[in-house]
Amino acid sequence: MSTVLTEIDPEVAEALRAAIGDAHVIADRAARFHRARVPAPFPVHRWAEHVPGIVVLPGTTAEVAAIVVIANRFGVPVVPRSGGTGLTDGAVPLRGGILLDLKRLDEIHEIDLENRTCRVGAGVNMLKLNEVLGKHGLIYPDDPASYPCSLVGGRIGTSGWSLIGSRYGHTRDLVLSFTHVLPSGQVIQVGDGGGAKLSKSSSGYSLKQLFMGHQGTLGVATEATLKLYDKPEAELSPFWAFESYEEAYRAVGLIVRANCATFAGAVIFDPEKVAYLRRDDEAYIPQPESVRALVCAALYGNEEEVEAGGRRLMRIARDHGGTYLGDEISQGDWAARHDRYATPLHGRTRAGQVVPMGWHCEDASINYTAVPAVRKEWHEIMARLCRASEIFDDWGIFAYTNGPTGADYLVEIDVGIWEQELDDEAWQLWVNAKREFSAVAIAHGGSISACHGSCREGEVDLVPTELGGVFDVMLTIKRALDPGNIMNPGKYLLDRAYEEVE
Ligand SMILES: Cc1cc2nc3c(=O)[nH]c(=O)nc-3n(C[C@H](O)[C@H](O)[C@H](O)COP(=O)(O)OP(=O)(O)OC[C@H]3O[C@@H](n4cnc5c(N)ncnc54)[C@H](O)[C@@H]3O)c2cc1C
Repeated sequence: MSTVLTEIDPEVAEALRAAIGDAHVIADRAARFHRARVPAPFPVHRWAEHVPGIVVLPGTTAEVAAIVVIANRFGVPVVPRSGGTGLTDGAVPLRGGILLDLKRLDEIHEIDLENRTCRVGAGVNMLKLNEVLGKHGLIYPDDPASYPCSLVGGRIGTSGWSLIGSRYGHTRDLVLSFTHVLPSGQVIQVGDGGGAKLSKSSSGYSLKQLFMGHQGTLGVATEATLKLYDKPEAELSPFWAFESYEEAYRAVGLIVRANCATFAGAVIFDPEKVAYLRRDDEAYIPQPESVRALVCAALYGNEEEVEAGGRRLMRIARDHGGTYLGDEISQGDWAARHDRYATPLHGRTRAGQVVPMGWHCEDASINYTAVPAVRKEWHEIMARLCRASEIFDDWGIFAYTNGPTGADYLVEIDVGIWEQELDDEAWQLWVNAKREFSAVAIAHGGSISACHGSCREGEVDLVPTELGGVFDVMLTIKRALDPGNIMNPGKYLLDRAYEEVE
C-alpha cells in the first residue's frame, strides 16, 4: 500500500458517516490540512503530499473500533492524532487516508481517591486534568514541556518523558492500564494482570510496553487509568551559573547522586544554549559573558524534606563552582518550562540577520559518561550544517537526568530552521544531519530517542542498527497484528514486514 489517499472514496465516507454520524466526519480542505502539520521542521514545500483524505472525530471506544473495522474493510490507512505535538512525524498521514482526531475523548470518568488512580479518555490533556485533580489535593505528574498541549493518548503513543520523572517516573510508569483498539478493531484492556489499577503482576506476558511508544502503528488507546500522587506541599527549583561546562557537568553528576528523596530532576544548559538565550531577544536568562553553563534542579515533596534537600544541593553546587541565581530567576524559569519553546520563532543567520525560524529538537538517550562526547560531536554536525546552508541555526543543548544513576540522560539539541527557505536541497542536508546525530548516539551506547520516537526521515534509517534482532521481532508483530497494514503505514520502516511475505 504505497499510494497516498488524499481523496477518499465516497463509499468509505458514507460508511464512516453511518458509523459515527455526519457531524463528526469532516472532508473539507481546511480541516484536512490543519491536521497534517506537526511541529517544525516539516517539509513545508511538500505539505500537500501529506494531507489526509478525511477527518473523523469519534466520541467513544466503540466508534474508534468501528472506524478501524471500516479502514480494514476498504484497505484505507488510519492515523491516530491527539495533540499533534509529536516531534517525530508520528501523526503525519504519510499515506493519507483517515485521520483519527481523538480530542473528543476528553472525559474524566473516575477519580478513585482511596487507591489514588483516575480513569480518563485518551483525549484529556494534563493541564486540564490537574486542574480537576488539584481540588482533591492530587496530581498526575506527567510533566513534559508540551504539558498544556499534548494529550494522554499521544503520551501513550510516544511513551513520553516527564521533566519531573526522576521523582515520579515517566508516562510508562504513570499509565497503569488502558483500553486499546487493535488494528483489527478488537478492543482489549492492556495493563498488568486483569486489574486496571495494578502496576505489578507476574501473570502472563507484560504487554503494556508493547502498546506504548509504537506511534499509532499497533492500534489506538482510547481510555487510560493513571497513577496519582499527593500534590507536593513544596517545590524548589534552584538555578546555578557556572563558568565552565566541565564544572557544571560534574556538579550535575553529584546532585543526582546526593540521595535526596524529593529530587525530581536536574537539567544542564551547555555554553551554546546559554549563548543562544543571551542573544535571543526573548531570553529568559540574560547572563553575563562569564557564564558558560547553567544547571537547574527540581525538588518536589513535603516542606521539611524539600528544604533539607535544597540545602544539600545548594552546598554541592556552591562547592563545585556554581553561583545561585536567586529566587526570582529560579522560580520564573522553572515555571516557564512549559512555554519556553513557544517563543523562539526567530533566529539569526550566520550573517547576523534576524529571520523567522521554526524550532526543532533532536533527542537521544545516553549515559552520563557519554554526555560530553555526544555534545561535542553534535555541535560539530551542526557547525557543518550551518556552513552548508544559512537556514540552520544551532540553539544549544540541554541534558536532563533520570533518577539517581548515570543511566538515561535525555540529551536534546535545539535547532532553528528558516522554514520559508526550506527546499529539497536544504531538506536533504537536514535529513543527513539527523542520520548523523543518531549515529553518534548509537556509537556511544545510546538510543536514537529518549522520548520523541525515531520514525522521522534520516533517523529512522538507523533503527534496525540500534535494535538489531528486536527490529525483526517488530516486523513479525506488526504483520501478525495488522495484516492489512492499515495502522499508520509508512512509519518505522514497518512496510518491510509486508515486503517479506510478497
Ligand atoms: C513544545 C514542545 C515540547 C515538548 N516537550 C516534550 C517533553 O518534555 N517530553 C516528551 O516526551 N515530549 C515532548 N514533546 C513531544 C510531544 O509533545 C510528545 O511526543 C507527546 O507525547 C505527543 O503527544 P500528542 O498528544 O501531541 O500526540 P500526537 O503528536 O498527536 O501523536 C504522537 C504519536 O502517537 C500516536 N498517537 C496519538 N494518539 C494515540 C492514541 N490514542 N493511541 C495510540 N497512538 C496514538 C500518533 O499517531 C503519533 O504517532 C514536546 C513537543 C513540543 C511541541
